[in-house]
Amino acid sequence: LKEVREGASRFFVPEAERIYDAPVFYNPVMAINRDISVLAVDVLKPSRVLDALSATGVRGLRYLLETPAGEVWMNDIKEEAFRLILRNVELNGGKIVKSSNERVVFDISGKKAIVSKGDANRLMAEKFRYFDFIDLDPFGAPVEFLDTALRAVKRRGFLGVTATDTGVLCGAYRNACLRKYLAVPIRGELCHEAGLRILIGLVARYAAKYDLGVKVLLAYYRDHYFRVFLGLKSGARKADESLSNIGYLWQDKSGKFWYSREFLPSESNAYGPLWLGELKDDDFMNSLLKKSQEVVLASNKTLEFIRLLSDELDVPFHYDTHAIARRHGLEVRKLAVIMEKLEKMGYRVTRTHFSPTSIKTDAPFDAVLDALRGL
Ligand code: SAM
Repeated sequence: LKEVREGASRFFVPEAERIYDAPVFYNPVMAINRDISVLAVDVLKPSRVLDALSATGVRGLRYLLETPAGEVWMNDIKEEAFRLILRNVELNGGKIVKSSNERVVFDISGKKAIVSKGDANRLMAEKFRYFDFIDLDPFGAPVEFLDTALRAVKRRGFLGVTATDTGVLCGAYRNACLRKYLAVPIRGELCHEAGLRILIGLVARYAAKYDLGVKVLLAYYRDHYFRVFLGLKSGARKADESLSNIGYLWQDKSGKFWYSREFLPSESNAYGPLWLGELKDDDFMNSLLKKSQEVVLASNKTLEFIRLLSDELDVPFHYDTHAIARRHGLEVRKLAVIMEKLEKMGYRVTRTHFSPTSIKTDAPFDAVLDALRGL
């Protein structure tokens, strides 16, 4: 074991040549994911938090030490992980209050930390409408935990969901996407945004059966994973409202794409169903940005990334200038030049976190093509 620091926490992680060989998983690259999650929990102020797939406990510990959350559960199915989380809670000053083979309750400066061993689905099934915020950070797809999470979270609670099976959501394994996400993925330059929207669309459909609507607070793609923060809205009408944001995407050989909010597509070759609503909430983003300038973050990339997300125009899909240039045999032009051209034509245009060669704009495809041609 070696001791590492992240945010306000100290903790032991197993030493291993490659992170996936370690008996308990810890990926330092995900510090940005955890930074943003800590900021989100800080802004949303949930009192009971569940880190359902906790591994070393780093995420839950950071929620305890860096946010106002009063009760944080850290759960893992693996014996080694359970024992390591116990050590890590003690390392951060946790004092045992109550203990059994599968559950240990700690006090950390007046807050409650509960370390639990077992299947996350079993724990969530047991804790019906108990948590204000549930974090799902699994290996691969989160789909097997969604149903229980939607039952264990309060009807006005929040969910943070990570998916690392980008290959599936981006269309490398079409049938796997059909099986897990009940959606047809697209390949090519739109795959990451479409993948993110497929994930949100699935959560919205799962939530709807409990008469729960979803509001996307922030959804993004980075370092080969997707991350979504959702606020739940109680009521059948709210569920109907969120389902009205589900639809389909089409794209032709020229790169032109179009989408439509309809539950069953009338044209074939459609991709989806996927979420066509917003990928962020302005109030939430403003608070997140403000907080991120006040606190000490673990990664020096977090702030810049949150700025990029905040500035991004929130319209469905984006134009990849390199891909369009390639499709039309055009020379690649500087992004800044293309953006200026579109602005002069009266359109709104920003960069996007989905790709450094892409823009988000309310301009139609032909206007973008004109700007690329230098017209
Ligand atoms: N959240 C951690 C972090 O930020 O460092 C990383 C979690 S790691 C990607 C996924 C963890 O889920 C592993 O430690 C694994 O043992 C655990 N796990 C897998 N299936 C599980 C299940 N059904 N119930 C609970 N834990 C599970």
